[in-house]
Amino acid sequence: MQKLLLHTCCAPCSAAIIENLLAQGIRPVLFYFNPNIFPEEEYAIRKNECSRYAASLGVAIIDGDYDHAFWLKDMKGLENEPERGLRCLKCFQLRLLATARLASESGLDTFATTLASSRWKSLTQIAQAGNWAASQFPGLTFFEKNWRKEGLSERRRILLKENGFYNQQYCGCEFSR
Ligand code: SF4
Repeated sequence: MQKLLLHTCCAPCSAAIIENLLAQGIRPVLFYFNPNIFPEEEYAIRKNECSRYAASLGVAIIDGDYDHAFWLKDMKGLENEPERGLRCLKCFQLRLLATARLASESGLDTFATTLASSRWKSLTQIAQAGNWAASQFPGLTFFEKNWRKEGLSERRRILLKENGFYNQQYCGCEFSR
């Protein structure tokens, strides 16, 4: 079975993607790295939901650092940007660069993200950030796919209900609350 590192943002966005990858013979290793989430209690809830789902499937999950102060510093000057604006691009770049680095250090040649499953996010920005992050490490590829097609959006809704996932009402940072 092939392996890839899958940056995971939350259980509702990840479940159908993980299921789809496993069905394709690809075993993902999950990487929970989302220092954008505020407050920390919200971060813990989303992370625990991902861990619970990963454990139910026997899929490994790596816990990234939570350093929201560092994230805020990187977003300085972009606080008033709208969603899908420059702050979001930078936020994707920060998270996907860390994912690309971990994939490269772990000897994996491909990484992907669950960010693109949400219809609220820009696929163009996610592809731009993912391909940019991949280009920083030789031999690394960003697995670019529209995870809203092929019945995956429908499957997302079904798995959310079936598993009783916590379903957040905002993207993650204080500016999106
Ligand atoms: S709205 Fe979402 S993607 Fe945009 S900066 Fe905030 S957490 Fe990141």
